[in-house]
Amino acid sequence: MHDLTQDRPTTVSAAAPDPDPDEVLRVCADLIAAPSENPGGDEEAAAAVVERYLGSSGFHIRRVYARPGRPNVLATLDRGPGPRLILQAHLDTKPAGPPAAWSGDPFTARVTDGLMYGLGACDTKGGLAAMLVAADRLARRSDWQGQLEVQGVADEEDGSALGAEFLLAEGLLIADAAVVSEPTGALPSPAQLGNAWAEVTIRTPGAHAGTPWKGIDAVEVARRYVAVLERLLREMPTDPAFPHHPRLNVGHLMAPGHPGTLSSSCMLRCDIRVLPHQRHATVMDLYDRAAREVADPPAGVSLHVGPYQGGGCESHAIAVDHPLLLAFDAAAQALGVPSGRCSFAGGSDARYFARAGTPAVVHGPGDLDRAHAPDEFVPISELRLAARQIELVAADFLQSPGRYPPGRQI
Ligand SMILES: [Zn+2]
Repeated sequence: MHDLTQDRPTTVSAAAPDPDPDEVLRVCADLIAAPSENPGGDEEAAAAVVERYLGSSGFHIRRVYARPGRPNVLATLDRGPGPRLILQAHLDTKPAGPPAAWSGDPFTARVTDGLMYGLGACDTKGGLAAMLVAADRLARRSDWQGQLEVQGVADEEDGSALGAEFLLAEGLLIADAAVVSEPTGALPSPAQLGNAWAEVTIRTPGAHAGTPWKGIDAVEVARRYVAVLERLLREMPTDPAFPHHPRLNVGHLMAPGHPGTLSSSCMLRCDIRVLPHQRHATVMDLYDRAAREVADPPAGVSLHVGPYQGGGCESHAIAVDHPLLLAFDAAAQALGVPSGRCSFAGGSDARYFARAGTPAVVHGPGDLDRAHAPDEFVPISELRLAARQIELVAADFLQSPGRYPPGRQI
């Protein structure tokens, strides 16, 4: 077993002062001014900001497309043998929505009371700005080796098929580690939930509501199905980092028919979040087990379970002693801020790194509650902090001489 703590410094020196604390604000404002609403637009303007900024810092820049107008911009700085680290943030934002819901133009950054407002400020142009500034400073440092790649990706807000999922298929997510930007309050999130989505269709012999003994109510079967599924879930392991999970969420229930008729069909669309250390297939299997328990073929009760919208995705977790996570602790110490962890509850492109076998941490400035909402903002203090953190974390990780064992996920 590779000793993950070898070659690591035993003391952490204080970080040098930030040479230009406003640079990350300017870059964030440039990104906010480059509309990239999704659905509804493209990411070309935002990709151009990345290209302009890192192109002058010696990065090799290329764009890869799954579809015209939907660029993924990859900026690479190769310093020979050593670890490969990817810093990834999505270029797109949710649509701004009605202009009247905003206090100002969503595409013009405004600074008030220590907050920067604008569409994408926290999700995730603030995080991308922090990565860009960090990458520019890393280009000026000589104390690291290996390969640093910044990826600005398309389409995260509408399924990632043209972004991270496409890069996965192209083999472009393979690295020793990755940081995926999402608003986490500038704390690293070592694990994220997956989700298991199923569509369950129940069929029964219906009947007139006046003679219910002549049929079987499909909605009543759905209730029994939910009860069995919840019993099975209570037998599953829990994780204190993700309270209230695992739980069943029936987000859609449909029983077309008439009040005067016992329903003969009922359809449920269900979500169960997949905890770290759990397999997606294990959770999907619960839907089938509950269906087998409730089905009654001689009585004409059948249940069909299928994946909904592809069935969801795996959870993701990085080893607690992975050097990238330890580098976040060292950076916090050097910057004089408390070290800690958070549990990012939203979806992220980290799930595609999981499939590539690349350990990833989700991290970025801002609060998830401010994402996808009018008057989106990011605290300036977190924006500055995130840029410093990413610089120190990457420099630390890229100073290690050996490559790490691939796929050190748990
Ligand atoms: Zn996001």
